[in-house]
Amino acid sequence: MIARLAVPAATLLLLSGPATVPAPEKAPVAEGYGGAVATVDLDASRAAVEVLRRGGNAIDAAITAAATLGVTEPYSAGMAGGGFLLYYDARRGRVHTIDGRETAPRAMTATSLQENGAAIPTDEAITSGLSAGVPGSVAQWDLALRRFGSIGLGEALRPAIRVAERGFLVDQTFHDQTAANQARFADITSTARLYLPGGAPPAVGSVFRNPELARTYRELARRGPSWLYGGRLGAEIVATVKRPPVRPGAARKVRPGLMELSDLRAYRAIERAPARVGYKGLDVYGMAPPSSGGSTVGEALNILEKLPQVGLHEFLESSRLSFADRGKYVGDPAFTDVPLRELLSDGFAGERACLIGATALAHPAAPGDPDGSYGPCRAAVPGPAATPAREGPETTHLVVSDRWGNVVAYTLTIESTGGNGIVVPGRGLLLNNELTDFTFGPAPGDPNLPGPGKRPRSSMSPTIVLDDGRPVLAAGSPGGSTIITTVLQILIGRYELGMTLPQALAAPRATQRNTAQTQAEPAFIAAHGPALTVRGHSFAPTPEIGAATALELLGGGRVRAVAEPARRGGGSALVVTER
Ligand code: GLU
Repeated sequence: MIARLAVPAATLLLLSGPATVPAPEKAPVAEGYGGAVATVDLDASRAAVEVLRRGGNAIDAAITAAATLGVTEPYSAGMAGGGFLLYYDARRGRVHTIDGRETAPRAMTATSLQENGAAIPTDEAITSGLSAGVPGSVAQWDLALRRFGSIGLGEALRPAIRVAERGFLVDQTFHDQTAANQARFADITSTARLYLPGGAPPAVGSVFRNPELARTYRELARRGPSWLYGGRLGAEIVATVKRPPVRPGAARKVRPGLMELSDLRAYRAIERAPARVGYKGLDVYGMAPPSSGGSTVGEALNILEKLPQVGLHEFLESSRLSFADRGKYVGDPAFTDVPLRELLSDGFAGERACLIGATALAHPAAPGDPDGSYGPCRAAVPGPAATPAREGPETTHLVVSDRWGNVVAYTLTIESTGGNGIVVPGRGLLLNNELTDFTFGPAPGDPNLPGPGKRPRSSMSPTIVLDDGRPVLAAGSPGGSTIITTVLQILIGRYELGMTLPQALAAPRATQRNTAQTQAEPAFIAAHGPALTVRGHSFAPTPEIGAATALELLGGGRVRAVAEPARRGGGSALVVTER
């Protein structure tokens, strides 16, 4: 597959007509010193490693990579999206987290995603102004750079501006993602103009430029975040959300949104205490609510620690039980009392682990009682039918380390591939549809129903593992609710099944989220299906799960960065100084 890479200026001078520039190879594994980066994209990894080479730190490099991904991976993430960032601060020996989750406007209520007492059809909700949350990324980038960075937002945006102006080579993934969105993009005039030049998805091997996004980034650099959070850009976003630029004659119903400029003014990125569990002598740090990443990965690891042996059956069962608890207990902590401490307690893990036997639990597994009082093993009872989780290949994850030993794990998103499909006219910027991560309802008592100023529950699971207070591993992935199982499977592969980190990322994946069948990649079913079927599991094939990146600190300043070898066309790992 052709790498998506920025086109050098000299090359562009030679181009007439569609470009067919040979692409250098992306490497999924890199090992060396002085810091490392892994992202899905060569341009983003290069931009980040260049920051590290010039003396920038891990936060500087991570935000630079994120802004570049907003250009080259615009369907996965961007400045009108959100995300969760974990940062290991080597000087203080602490893990910090920054929540840049999109937020519901204040006019949103528990029934805003319903009509006539029933949930709005998912597809209609996705492509709408209604699904657009107040963007969090810019506030998050700004906060991260101010708190922990050494460069300003303007400098972090510079490489991205260059890539947006010069263009990048369209690869098969970008082409296919555009083609999959063609029908809805064609119905939004601003989106069609940008992403369907000449009425069709850009050809593989052609050069894609986004000069409007370059101008938007440039103006953001000059005016600062308040240009978005209450200023002119914010007003344009609100206008777009309220009156999406739908093509005259389009049959599609595109609902308007509820966002006001005051919602943008009120937005804050939030520093939160991380979720943490002890696991095999390590400390595993993840994202606390409103993400369910840290609580669900952490609960599953705690359960596994209680079991006499850990293999793929135990992986699936611990994940099944943790997802039952995720569904019942996790939402935005400003609105719901999430029993995070109990969910991550050894007592609760013991009670849950008791339920795991030689064969798969009956579907659906019931949630447990994280109430602080944990008794002897009880027989498993089937629970209420779980709401089927949507999952997709969207979103992106990156990891960075620097020469001082700081580490970043950062997952960022605009939710669906292509977000809500609506480009802000003249700004080159796709809006998110993050509010479809809420439970649409009616679902009385569900902790994840929409609410005014509420953040939808996420599955994003940026993870940093410490050994004796020092970071040894960082990982994360896209993939909706499969993010959780992908991160869990990587940790199990590395720490239980004797895999190297590259092997753990490459290994065929399965995802059990308290569903009747376990979705799995065909290679997983071929290798493990028969043995697991005997134990009561059944599988539904799915072509690809996740697109992870990770890194491992090997001691003495040595670091190994790892990206996908094949999924989503493969990622790009780079180090500052090769071995
Ligand atoms: N919106 C999803 C979440 O926050 C991430 C997007 C995805 O990967 O599907 O969990």
